[in-house]
Amino acid sequence: MKVEKLILDGNRVADDMKEQLVVRVKELSGKGIVPCLATILVGDDPSSATYVRMKGNACKRIGIHSIRVDLPSSTTTDELIAAINKLNDEPTVHGILLQHPVPHHIDERAAFEAIRIEKDVDGVTTQGFAQNAFGLADYPSCTPAAILAILEYYNIPIEGKHAVVIGRSPILGKPVSAMLLNKDATVTTCHSKTTNLEDIVRLGDIVVAAVGKPKFVQGDWIKPGAVVIDAGYNKGNLGDVDYDACLKNAYAITPVPAGVGPVTIATLLKHTVEAAEKCAI
Ligand code: NAP
Repeated sequence: MKVEKLILDGNRVADDMKEQLVVRVKELSGKGIVPCLATILVGDDPSSATYVRMKGNACKRIGIHSIRVDLPSSTTTDELIAAINKLNDEPTVHGILLQHPVPHHIDERAAFEAIRIEKDVDGVTTQGFAQNAFGLADYPSCTPAAILAILEYYNIPIEGKHAVVIGRSPILGKPVSAMLLNKDATVTTCHSKTTNLEDIVRLGDIVVAAVGKPKFVQGDWIKPGAVVIDAGYNKGNLGDVDYDACLKNAYAITPVPAGVGPVTIATLLKHTVEAAEKCAI
């Protein structure tokens, strides 16, 4: 018997989110407010420049104003914090995104912490992270929130399921683990020191790959009927999951590209619109 596979189409989820945002942006415009996202790019990393451009274009397409602050690689931590503070104090800016990674000599954590919580639309501050852990964040990290949005869109049950998250970064693995736990999954978070990783992944009803290694998750690690979410994005349009191999056992899976990526951008737009709406109250 042929088992139907569910391909979790991120473009479809993102389009649905953006359609709703267009209406909200119009409503704000009636009140004289244009949502505005400020993006800061430090240095000349080509991938980061591409991400920033994609985010700017996505803003434009739905009527969100975007400001781009380009700083040279030689920028110091103090100079970066000064640039963030300027945006913190600018009432027409509703969201601030500092593109990660910044050059090594900069204290990235200190820079993230400088973003005022009301404008932390990417959930990078420790306050935003803590709120997320309590299930109270206005703006959880965008990629974890995108993963939850995909599961919700496709009505994939989370409660009581065993979710295995591979990766524990502060922007992805840890917050998505907290969000799944808050949705009553039993969560195992794995990392580079985890022993018997494959055996643990085999227990997962939901497997989230956030490793940063192309095609890392192998097909025979996936329990038959599991849901596989590939948050990875590596050179050559490759995810962290061996898609073709994992598809064999998975019931549902996100492709790369067109999986988590577009929903992450739509989530950033959503958070920016929500931040602007708070100013309209
Ligand atoms: P990161 O900060 O490099 O974290 C990678 C995590 O994977 C770490 O926790 C690391 O463990 C763990 N890891 C590394 N090797 C491992 C191994 N052999 N076994 C088990 N765990 C291992 O990366 P990130 O920023 O979270 O990003 C992860 C992936 O998501 C990347 O592919 C990135 O491009 C992608 N990403 C996608 C989006 C999107 O919008 N789709 C957004 C952000 C990131 P340790 O903590 O022990 O080092």
